[in-house]
Amino acid sequence: MSFSPELLRSVSKPGRYAGGEFGQILKDPASVDVSVAFCFPDSYEIGMSNLGLRILYGVLNREENIRCERVFAPWTDMEEKMREGNIPLQTHESGQPAREFDFFAVTLQYEMCYTNVLNVLDLSGIPLRAADRGEEDPIVIGGGPCSYNPEPVADFFDLFDIGEGEEMLPEIVRLYARMKKLGATKREFLIEAARTIEGVYVPAFYDVEYNPDGRVRSYTPNVEGVPKRVRKRIVEDLDTMYFPESVVMPYIECVQDRIMLEVFRGCIRGCRFCQAGMIYRPVREKSPETLLRQAKELYKNTGYEEISLTSLSISDYTRLRELTDGLIEWTDKKRVSLSLPSLRIDSFSRELMEKVASVRSSSITFAPEAGTQRLRDVINKNVTEADLMRSAGIAFAAGKEQVKLYFMNGLPTETDEDLAGIAALAEETVEEFYRTPGHSKRAPLVTVSVSCFVPKPFTPFQWEAQDTVETLIEKNKYIASCIKSRKVRFTHHDACVSHVEAVLALGDRRLSRALEIAHARGFRFDAWDEFFSYDAWMEVFAEAGIDTAFYANRRRDPGEVLPWDVIDCGVTKEFLLRERKKAYEAKTTPSCREQCSGCGANCLGGKDICCPGGRK
Ligand code: SF4
Repeated sequence: MSFSPELLRSVSKPGRYAGGEFGQILKDPASVDVSVAFCFPDSYEIGMSNLGLRILYGVLNREENIRCERVFAPWTDMEEKMREGNIPLQTHESGQPAREFDFFAVTLQYEMCYTNVLNVLDLSGIPLRAADRGEEDPIVIGGGPCSYNPEPVADFFDLFDIGEGEEMLPEIVRLYARMKKLGATKREFLIEAARTIEGVYVPAFYDVEYNPDGRVRSYTPNVEGVPKRVRKRIVEDLDTMYFPESVVMPYIECVQDRIMLEVFRGCIRGCRFCQAGMIYRPVREKSPETLLRQAKELYKNTGYEEISLTSLSISDYTRLRELTDGLIEWTDKKRVSLSLPSLRIDSFSRELMEKVASVRSSSITFAPEAGTQRLRDVINKNVTEADLMRSAGIAFAAGKEQVKLYFMNGLPTETDEDLAGIAALAEETVEEFYRTPGHSKRAPLVTVSVSCFVPKPFTPFQWEAQDTVETLIEKNKYIASCIKSRKVRFTHHDACVSHVEAVLALGDRRLSRALEIAHARGFRFDAWDEFFSYDAWMEVFAEAGIDTAFYANRRRDPGEVLPWDVIDCGVTKEFLLRERKKAYEAKTTPSCREQCSGCGANCLGGKDICCPGGRK
């Protein structure tokens, strides 16, 4: 890092920019053929906590021929200084300007970071639009969960890698190294990558046409040999897949200062609102032997005192007891604590609670998501009120007095009864506290946290309309009015943010104009409450000619061409439509482990890749 000491002293948290952390990988530029600036477009503390960054930084750098360095979005005070001093965005390791790298790879974790993406490109001196970049500019790659609908930001990227990057990203970079030696142009490389590497999507190679009513009419490849639809990549065997056994250790406090041990990928459940549960299919597990080895190595190399078992629904891991027993055998001796951040209500047990640190605090979190059994069946949550009371009872009997309950409002088919059910469920949880023998002497507190439903691509609810902001606000007021107990506290997410998120999640290429205007007006860090301005966003959309209701509040026809139809995530439209129909009938679907529902994801890696016993 080459920021001057004076500059570092003049900004908040200089540790965000100082670089030189323990574990960073600094290679001699002369010793490699290709360089990658890997950008997490949010603050350093958030980016350094991202498991994807840890994995891809390691997987690229283990290749002798590749140099990968990190870039983050500078906080606003640093940005101001950089703009004043004409200092371009630079990498943490060498302090080299990011625009001098061969690749500028950006991970897209959430839609509200899109303005940050434009800002980091601008601060790097890289033209925003791919079409305006020349041979001397880096190739800008996008990846991560938002790239499953890359269209709102398609104009800003040369290439997207769709799916899991451990194998795909090095393949892309290696191909570039080979073609660079042969003197190939950027376009020649992009064509070859799109033709030969599964998972590569080059937006410029697809023409989009729109119907007079504004809906997408078609996607047509304009380069011979590129796929009509780009199929996501997965890693088939997680045991043999690269996983970093050391990480860069930040000098300042980050969001996740702990070992993140990825236990499996995918989810067997199929909640109908959940994008992660669909796009990461099929389930692939690591063995406890691999996990125990990786945990010990990570502990040895980092000294972290907490291990978090990260996966979508950790209690669905088939060998959880074996893993936790194996871990506790040595973590107890080393005084390392375990945390399981994603426990389901129906699998919560006293045994698990006693094992893990995350539930040793005074508070515990459950996610019933909806207030009535009917609506929980609509969303395929597959948990009951009895499950919640049993789990809360276990927690209360163990001396806890605080429970946090996560819900959503605005879900398809929702009625006032469902909203009132949220209040009723919270109050029943308070009653359960008093019914539980041995409960704490302190008064109970049940916190109800309500977020707004955002329809997401590749879910059975991708065709649904989001409630208007006004309706969502009214619904929150109604829930609040239904809560009579002073032992229930109500919190909710900002409906305005959810509306903008829906527009950006469900949008097409026409959104790029709005993002450019937003960037020109200085928008950044929109995921942060202190920077988000709904009125300013609405002005931007109006100026760009974007009708936000068209994207967020419109129920789509099942036959409509969707902007993300150009991507194939394995899960078929037929399956999603079957699930949608069942949602309207309030019928549930069993988990993959009970019965395969033929979602299509097993086509990605051969028939044996799904969870054990998955297909019947
Ligand atoms: S193919 Fe069957 S078992 Fe595999 S993820 Fe889809 S529904 Fe589950």
